[in-house]
Amino acid sequence: MARNVITTDVALVGAGIMSATLGTLIRKLEPSWSVSVFESLDAAGAESSDPWNNAGTGHSALCELNYTPQQADGSVDVSKAITINEQFQVSRQFWAYAVDAGVMDDPSDFINPIPHASFVHGADNVEYLRKRYDALSHQTLFEGMEYFTDPATFSERLPIMAAGRNFGDPVAVNWFEGGTDVDFGSLTKKLINFVGKGGSVHFGTKVTDLKKQKGGGWRLTIKNLRTNEISHVDARFVFVGAGGGALPLLQKSGIKEAKGFGGFPVSGQFFRCSNPELIDHHAAKVYGKAPTGAPPMSVPHLDTRVIGGNKGLLFGPYAGFSPKFLKAGKYTDLPLSVKPNNIVPMMAVGLKEMGLTKYLIGELTQTPADRVHTLSEFVPRADGHDWELITAGQRVQVIRKGKGGGNLEFGTAVIAAEQDQIAGLLGASPGASTAVPAMLDVLGKCFPKHMQAWKPLLQEMIPSYGTTLNDNKKLYTQVWDWTNRTLQLAPGVGADAQA
Ligand SMILES: Cc1cc2nc3c(=O)[nH]c(=O)nc-3n(C[C@H](O)[C@H](O)[C@H](O)COP(=O)(O)OP(=O)(O)OC[C@H]3O[C@@H](n4cnc5c(N)ncnc54)[C@H](O)[C@@H]3O)c2cc1C
Repeated sequence: MARNVITTDVALVGAGIMSATLGTLIRKLEPSWSVSVFESLDAAGAESSDPWNNAGTGHSALCELNYTPQQADGSVDVSKAITINEQFQVSRQFWAYAVDAGVMDDPSDFINPIPHASFVHGADNVEYLRKRYDALSHQTLFEGMEYFTDPATFSERLPIMAAGRNFGDPVAVNWFEGGTDVDFGSLTKKLINFVGKGGSVHFGTKVTDLKKQKGGGWRLTIKNLRTNEISHVDARFVFVGAGGGALPLLQKSGIKEAKGFGGFPVSGQFFRCSNPELIDHHAAKVYGKAPTGAPPMSVPHLDTRVIGGNKGLLFGPYAGFSPKFLKAGKYTDLPLSVKPNNIVPMMAVGLKEMGLTKYLIGELTQTPADRVHTLSEFVPRADGHDWELITAGQRVQVIRKGKGGGNLEFGTAVIAAEQDQIAGLLGASPGASTAVPAMLDVLGKCFPKHMQAWKPLLQEMIPSYGTTLNDNKKLYTQVWDWTNRTLQLAPGVGADAQA
């Protein structure tokens, strides 16, 4: 029997970047609504949003080659890259607004300027990268992108990747000076802190169940993990921002919108560099090409990080398999997520995705020497003693009903039921970088009647709200320069282009 019942307008399950973003938006748009956050861990941003659990790339398709696939006719399709970049511009604007509005302080705690680069070798890949550059460089959002193949520039910009390299194998690089590294853990903590000032944040509390109330709204069952005490929360609106823990809770909610969804967890490991000299001599996020048959999130990258004011360097990810849905999850997570309504899509994916299974087995059986060999494609003189293996966050890829029974997806799915006043997020890519557009999507789906009244403030927060920047150079230049100034990033390339 419940001893306490808290009532709240908005209950946010999980204190990751998604709940933090939604909570901040709601607190700004509707200051009179009460907001309560329930997080099973003892801190905000400690699961996938923790800086060492993800790569901290401000994903804007500047360097990720999976967003610019080559077509059968040899041309490069850049439409996905433009969409991803547009989404990141939305996040950048909201973060700049939040700094200007005093929601959070010192932006260098969470975002830092780091060039983004795509790197390939081999004649065919070099030709592909040239085509990618030709297709992207005249797009407004990608203005300022560079392309180089000469060993001298390569050695100057990427010294640890040049040392010991055989330039007889041709190389090519797309380089964008205005990329970013984002510490999503720090950003989450700042936003949750703001949410907590006008609402309540409960750490060490796990949401174990949620039931629709007859008169509307939801009753959540909460377990205090320190005392094992059970209590209840009555909420008008629930957002399941539980990351990998979202699927089981959405299944428990019983909403029809969640039916048929399944999840496939992919774990990851990074090599973290422990040699200060190497860390010092690399300053870029460099993304390569995924091995054949590998899923898009396994693209290898050598990444400068800025965490707690210190520069770091990571390489990876090395994929793996664990049936847990969260790093702090249970081995029963995957088997218990199989339900009568998703068994068909899950089995269909199991049969269809043999390539992925083969790839994961290959990754799991890698020896330490194999991992160093993979790294040596980027750092030819890699020495295993300079790198320690760390476990990154879990990604739960979305499985949904579709052709042939079901499909495995590598994007994000917003599950929302307006009539039931509940929403949740499944999937992990492009991830934290798109937290702001994803949460605007949640607001639009769950509060359509409020959107008109909220529009002026949303436009103040996000000047490009409701429009796109790639086809509006004037507005792009304005927001690029404003966000760069406020977030203390590089001088605006938009300004240079206009001069
Ligand atoms: C290896 C890897 C690399 C990545 N690289 C990038 C990158 O470079 N750039 C990028 O933008 N994104 C990246 N991502 C994706 C990004 O990390 C995630 O999309 C993002 O952090 C998800 O945020 P979230 O708030 O949904 O989940 P989380 O940050 O995981 O937060 C969910 C929270 O909910 C809590 N929770 C779960 N269940 C319950 C419950 N029942 N009750 C209470 N609390 C609960 C959890 O403890 C957790 O704190 C990467 C992810 C991985 C795994």
